[in-house]
Amino acid sequence: ASKRIPLVAGNWKMNFDHLEATYFVQKLAWLLRDAHFDFRRVEVALFPSFTSLRSVQVLVEADKLKINYGAQSVSVTNQGAFTGDISADMIAHLGCSYVIIGHSERRKYHPEDDANIVDQVRAVLAAGMQPILCVGESFEERRQGIELDFAVGQVHDVTRDLNEEEAAKLIIAYEPVWAIGTGMVATPESAQDAAQAIRADMKATFGADVADAVRILYGGSVTSKNAVELIEEPDVDGFLIGGASLDADELARICRLT
Ligand code: PEP
Repeated sequence: ASKRIPLVAGNWKMNFDHLEATYFVQKLAWLLRDAHFDFRRVEVALFPSFTSLRSVQVLVEADKLKINYGAQSVSVTNQGAFTGDISADMIAHLGCSYVIIGHSERRKYHPEDDANIVDQVRAVLAAGMQPILCVGESFEERRQGIELDFAVGQVHDVTRDLNEEEAAKLIIAYEPVWAIGTGMVATPESAQDAAQAIRADMKATFGADVADAVRILYGGSVTSKNAVELIEEPDVDGFLIGGASLDADELARICRLT
């Protein structure tokens, strides 16, 4: 993970109501405090459902917790007749630092194509938060041996029109779709190959300063059993974690091992 501060991000997906969410945050905070966890060394962020964000905000502010948090998606418009949508400003006003954008489940179950994802990135940046842009190949692209081109292409297509200042605020999550929720984790070498290829493309587009600053996370069946070898790779700057982030003890273990 070199000089960048690693990020351990827990994507809770559609799990936990607000009581479970606040219970979880208190337990995680207690576990990490008990372990003398150094939040300056590794950043921790949680991604609850929209319905829990206010409760998490109140708890984090009341107890001055060093745990950050964000949303799992965002509307591309900021206001108006869009029943059921949540704007970037609404999310930012709840103290969120980040928004996950383009998760494979959003791409699959909602009409989120590259154009929509570009607009989400812009909305999040305009509201002063950082996008966590998810990319990654399916099993079919991997079978064809085009996984690196595919993941790099996804990043490139979404980010190419950003300026350098905007690009420097991005976080990229390389999440091979076949590894999400399957127990099939990418090898450290292939996570590194993808992160390195994405960083090289960002360097070509935005220059070395931006490429060196951007954190690239690995996601896909991360647990405390595989976290250490993955984080040892120089271009892997942390994790986006689904299943294992639903267990506070396991998430605390991963934080400590990162
Ligand atoms: C995810 O959904 O972003 C993810 C990586 O899930 P899991 O850790 O369960 O594979």
